[in-house]
Amino acid sequence: CGIIGCVGRGDETLDTLVHGLSKLEYRGYDSAGVALTSTDEPVSICKNAGDIDGLKQALESVSLSGEVGIGHTRWSTHGPPTDANAHPHQDCHGSVAVVHNGIIENYQELRDELVGAGHTFTSDTDTEVIPHLIERELEDGANPEAAVRSAVAQLDGSFAVAVVVAGTESVFAARNDSPLVLGLTEEATFLASDVPAFRDFTDQVVYLDDGEFARLDADGWTVTDTAGTVVDKEVNTVEWDP
Ligand code: GLU
Repeated sequence: CGIIGCVGRGDETLDTLVHGLSKLEYRGYDSAGVALTSTDEPVSICKNAGDIDGLKQALESVSLSGEVGIGHTRWSTHGPPTDANAHPHQDCHGSVAVVHNGIIENYQELRDELVGAGHTFTSDTDTEVIPHLIERELEDGANPEAAVRSAVAQLDGSFAVAVVVAGTESVFAARNDSPLVLGLTEEATFLASDVPAFRDFTDQVVYLDDGEFARLDADGWTVTDTAGTVVDKEVNTVEWDP
């Protein structure tokens, strides 16, 4: 039931994600996972049913690299807490990774349509339709941002979603009825369900509103509405100490 994302943390990316997830533990969860990528690395993921200590152990036996990343703590709604149902979820080629909080109400019809078009699913979750929708848009020639936007536009329900795409150095995010907040520093941009996830790094935050889409880059961020128009967001200073 928590999301963390960051761009611009260099070699500290994985540690930053795991630290952020541990700060979101209070929200409750049954599974945890992370995905990393960079311009010259494919997306690599590690996830498991169980707690964040279990994720840390799993991370010891895999090598994950990349300077762009997302992480998730899951509170199951569709599918039991298993490793396969833990987030991030991927497309058939492993070039997209998605974390999601909330419920996709129209997932069954989207899933049936995607399976009919030849997509293979590996989990019971409602979430898994999202990476497959993005994959379809990418295959149709959309750039990564356009692909994520088009996929999100097809979703009904409540969601906070964060996405990484192999070969890009951005995190893409969207929200509808589930919280998301950006954290800003000169060198890095963060994204989370709640401020404690990145409060050790910054007190400068931007709260996303329903229907907004965010793109995080190492040197900045943009928030746009569903039509793609840039929204002039207020930067707030958090009043409490980490
Ligand atoms: N509905 C999704 C699932 O069951 C996300 C649950 C959550 O908010 O963590 O995997």
